[in-house]
Amino acid sequence: MNKFLSIWKYMCPRCRQGKLFTEPFEIGNPLSMPHSCSVCEQKFEPEPGFYYGAMFISYILTSSLLLPIALFCVFYLGWSANGAMVLIIALGATMFLWVMRYSRSLWIHIMVKYRPGYVKK
Ligand SMILES: [Zn+2]
Repeated sequence: MNKFLSIWKYMCPRCRQGKLFTEPFEIGNPLSMPHSCSVCEQKFEPEPGFYYGAMFISYILTSSLLLPIALFCVFYLGWSANGAMVLIIALGATMFLWVMRYSRSLWIHIMVKYRPGYVKK
């Protein structure tokens, strides 16, 4: 599995076989992650506050996705700024959980190296 597919499918960054998030998905606890990988025992929170870095990823993702849409609506479709803002807020709220999970996955993939065949002994 390549890195992008691994990030996309929320797999463990080290072995790319274990699941990064607890399954099945719970709406009340969308960011629930196991303590460590079930395959290679990579810790999913290597240090306290590890996922603060993921907030920057989520900011970059959200702004790079939503800003062009807002600019398109205002300058190409001729919407008012308020109309575009309503659309952006609705889209942002809809994408929120996906962005949070995806940015965590991206963050841990940046920080942890892939070690193929690494399994617990
Ligand atoms: Zn693993």
